Amino acid sequence: MVNTADFYKHTDVICDRSQPIVKTIMSLLDEVVERLPDEEQFKITGLIVIDTKQIAMGLWNIWRHQWKIAGPDFNLDLVGNCQYQPAGSFNNLDKRIRADDRYVITIIVDNLESKTDDYIKGLIAHELSEMSCPYRMLQENWDTLKKMEPADRPVMYDKWTKANAVLGSKEYQEHEDDINNEAIRLGFQKEIEALEVEN
Ligand SMILES: [Zn+2]
Repeated sequence: MVNTADFYKHTDVICDRSQPIVKTIMSLLDEVVERLPDEEQFKITGLIVIDTKQIAMGLWNIWRHQWKIAGPDFNLDLVGNCQYQPAGSFNNLDKRIRADDRYVITIIVDNLESKTDDYIKGLIAHELSEMSCPYRMLQENWDTLKKMEPADRPVMYDKWTKANAVLGSKEYQEHEDDINNEAIRLGFQKEIEALEVEN
């Protein structure tokens, strides 16, 4: 169980609470957070944006340059996205505390009004798993990574996580299955099923 008050100490939420759908999503986010197991990846610094596609695109136009990361591909029919950055992990593998790790979850509200609560909780659990899954992969394979040439580490990481797989490819589906399995491990089987059925 994760205490929501603790979680929001290191997780900022950017949203416009005057939108009813945003209010709904906020309370569903609380529910998901409370049900998470007390694991260390849920203690890293996070940012969660819950807004329309237009607003989210505007924010990412700034952040993309500020943080020098690609960000979500808004040409796709996105409902959610997670950008996880294991900062410092490849360069400084002696440091086991991931104080520099960051993730940003973007939830696009435009098409969520018609969705069930379970779908939305499944979506939130999926996006948190897009961080949790690679985080744990790094942790488990730390010793293997340490022995590799620094330049080879991100290549191996991409291979493990399939994070750069092309949408629609077999590899992409495998990536999504890995992520959904992580969400199920975290306790969200029913919600992931709802996400799959309504997608
Ligand atoms: Zn995904």
